[in-house]
Amino acid sequence: MADNCIFCKIAAGQIPSVKIYEDEKVIAFLDVGPVSDGHTLVIPKQHYTKVHECPPEILASITSVLPKVAGAVFAALAVDGYNVLCNNGRAAGQLVEHLHFHIIPRKTGDGVFSHWPAFKYPQGKAEELAEKIRAKL
Ligand code: 5GP
Ligand code: ZN
Repeated sequence: MADNCIFCKIAAGQIPSVKIYEDEKVIAFLDVGPVSDGHTLVIPKQHYTKVHECPPEILASITSVLPKVAGAVFAALAVDGYNVLCNNGRAAGQLVEHLHFHIIPRKTGDGVFSHWPAFKYPQGKAEELAEKIRAKL
């Protein structure tokens, strides 16, 4: 358990949460500061901060639970869709440094993520970026 990690404490049952699902490796509970009704967090019980720091087998445990929980959220709340979101690093909006996947129920036109700053690459830029990334695989 990481020092002063709120999600480690939730996973250990040391602080309360409104639980949706739990197994040996994974726990899902309602977000205490939801952006929509039923906003749920799915976390590994072990402490990892970012996706690329988490062993694939632990990620596999999480992703094998995601369809079950997302499906239940979708079916229970009569929503039109949902986002599965994982913020990695403070710059990406990660405030709790224990890996977590948000399941955010969505209704058409709810405006939850109203700004998506898409743009187009200039000539050659996509290939240049891909080359850099592939070199680190
Ligand atoms: P992040 O910005 O790190 O991706 O999201 C962290 C999320 O955890 C936020 O949506 C926040 O509301 C939620 N959160 C923070 N502390 C607690 C807590 O003690 N209990 C629960 N259930 N959710 C929390
Ligand atoms: Zn933790």
